[in-house]
Amino acid sequence: MKPRIIPGKELNGFIKGLMERAELYAPKERDTSPFPANPASDENPPALDAAEHSAGTPPVNGNREVSQFFRDTTEFRHITDPAQVNLDHLNTKLPLKELFLPRREVMFTFDTDTPERVEPVEAVAAERIVLGARPCDAAALEMFDRVFLDEATPDPYYRARREKTTIIGLACNEPGPACFCTAVGGSPHGSAALDLLLVDSGDRYLARPMTAKGEALVAHLPEATAPDIEKAAGLEQEARAAMKFTSDTAALQEKLKAGFDHKAWDEIALPCVNCGVCTYVCPTCHCFDVTDEESHGRGARIRTWDSCQFSLFTRHASGHNPRPTGRDRLRNRMMHKFRYFPAVHGTVLCVGCGRCIVECPSGIDLRETLTTLQEELE
Ligand code: SF4
Ligand code: SF4
Repeated sequence: MKPRIIPGKELNGFIKGLMERAELYAPKERDTSPFPANPASDENPPALDAAEHSAGTPPVNGNREVSQFFRDTTEFRHITDPAQVNLDHLNTKLPLKELFLPRREVMFTFDTDTPERVEPVEAVAAERIVLGARPCDAAALEMFDRVFLDEATPDPYYRARREKTTIIGLACNEPGPACFCTAVGGSPHGSAALDLLLVDSGDRYLARPMTAKGEALVAHLPEATAPDIEKAAGLEQEARAAMKFTSDTAALQEKLKAGFDHKAWDEIALPCVNCGVCTYVCPTCHCFDVTDEESHGRGARIRTWDSCQFSLFTRHASGHNPRPTGRDRLRNRMMHKFRYFPAVHGTVLCVGCGRCIVECPSGIDLRETLTTLQEELE
């Protein structure tokens, strides 16, 4: 498939074309004022940290030295006006996963007196296009696919969203200080799970189609020239070189096999308060809870994000908890990402987006944790 060119830095015409084809989702500034103009809704969720993000106040997170580089005030939202699209931020506050596994979703509703009266809920009604997915977030969807599109038990809600969504990525030319995608097999110009990848080349975008769906979006545009392609390759090299952290994840997987009871976990887990933020902002964490809620004879089965960092996550009805301490739970998070998931699926469950590093209130840096484990485990 031939790479194309979107001439000029003005993307408005391209964005308008996307909006005519399907519902468009893209990074959009959140309304984080203490008094939002509109009531909270799916389109405009309540600001959880309004005080911190009021005008002129930089975000305050655990790792201040890296958080100052992130204006984590955008989220993927439905776009109704091209001016709402904000592609200037590196990462959205919450990852792309919320468009495929929503924070909270009604799976079906029912009548409590006549349980056979179950009404299905359609996961997604219309075709969707996502614009501005960063390569790490998109790569995480390939990991979700292994879980939710498993042949034996595919998840129909997730599958419907995947099938009805075309994903346009945006390459990272200037990775942030917490980014380390190259250490976990990714690339700032990676194309995993994308239909089309845009590369900002200064006065134009290189548009590289990966699938027929992506090609259909740019087939009318002029073909890229050899210098366009060379320039994009140079930008990728520069971006890769900007990320210094490396990790031998294959060797770590072996060490973790024998390191379950190693004393290193005590030191690593000490600062963790098990708030679960790292799992909620992680594009690859995918645990959820399912509950039935009922009122006045009507009920709904609801799926919500859950976190292995909470003690209730594994507590049995008997009261026994196989992971009773914070140390057990942090170790499980690391083991799942760097030992169990690779053993089953052949890839680590981390794309190096750095969100957990930026957002952890205790200042835990996953790169330091990986280095400590590499050095201390035999
Ligand atoms: S590592 Fe940090 S963000 Fe994750 S649960 Fe512990 S304190 Fe919270
Ligand atoms: S573990 Fe941290 S760096 Fe890795 S994908 Fe999740 S949030 Fe990003």
